[in-house]
Amino acid sequence: MSKVRTRFAPSPTGRMHVGNLRTALYAYLISKHEGGDYILRIEDTDQERYVEGAVDIIYRTMKKTGLIHDEGPDLDGGCGPYVQSERHEKGIYLEYAKKLIEKGEAYYCFCTKERLESLKQNVAGKDIMVYDKHCLHLTPEEVQAKLDAGVPYVIRQNNPTTGTTTFQDEIYGDITVDNSELDDMVLIKSDGYPTYNFANVVDDHLMGITHVVRGNEYLSSSPKYNRLYEAFGWEVPVYVHCPLITDENHHKLSKRSGHSSFEDLIDQGFLTEAVVNFVALLGWSPSDNQEIMSLEELVEKFDYRHINKSPAVFDYTKLKWMNGEY
Ligand code: GLU
Ligand code: ZN
Repeated sequence: MSKVRTRFAPSPTGRMHVGNLRTALYAYLISKHEGGDYILRIEDTDQERYVEGAVDIIYRTMKKTGLIHDEGPDLDGGCGPYVQSERHEKGIYLEYAKKLIEKGEAYYCFCTKERLESLKQNVAGKDIMVYDKHCLHLTPEEVQAKLDAGVPYVIRQNNPTTGTTTFQDEIYGDITVDNSELDDMVLIKSDGYPTYNFANVVDDHLMGITHVVRGNEYLSSSPKYNRLYEAFGWEVPVYVHCPLITDENHHKLSKRSGHSSFEDLIDQGFLTEAVVNFVALLGWSPSDNQEIMSLEELVEKFDYRHINKSPAVFDYTKLKWMNGEY
């Protein structure tokens, strides 16, 4: 088997939610348990969601918690992860989108906003746009003429409309979707930047990621990722989706709860070790049921096959108790 390689791929959109910290921790533990590599990759190609200062929060949190990544283009004392906006500047994502165009798996779309707007349908109170593949039918000459004339474009994936796509998750099992639901998703946006899904898959492949660990909010979009692997002819990594985290009332942990981010907890006086220990147990427990564990012990005991499907409850009282044990 090839070396286990995992990554934490946060988007710099604000504070470090405990769910993000858990994703980072599980990715770290999976690789370190097998003597593998843990990579940090900043997914900052979505200009609209970018929050100033958020990257620093990520670096600080990783350092403070001891989740030190193994490599980067300019690794310097544990810093220097991969940054997608820099990779974008090098033209990596466009190059790979063009490879899909050559294979007939993607195409240029020159549709105007107005045209796309007219394709919107209201389904159960929600505006849904399923692209009608209009631009797939342009001839190569027509495409070239539009490119030469500088008509703005996006690049879309050419997805099948019939059949099904099955996606396998280690925790949640097989998930099958009807291909008619896939839509021809945008890979490269009109500003030239890759969409988040596309850059994510290209980088996971190029960085040799063997296990993708992420929050279960991505579970429903995962078949789309699978289709990208298929289109490229790449091997699909193992997917590990982590369960939802709720508060004691079984509501999704929200920012308003006041203890949803790592900084909130540190500000409240919790020790980093206690928080890391506590977060590790949000959806997983070791077979010997030991509760107080150092990062080294977590590395030794962690087995992702024992991550739970059911939501994990953020038990503040338990965190307080654990904090007292350190
Ligand atoms: N960039 C995504 C996020 O911050 C991560 C998705 C993934 O890990 O695949 O939520
Ligand atoms: Zn079009």
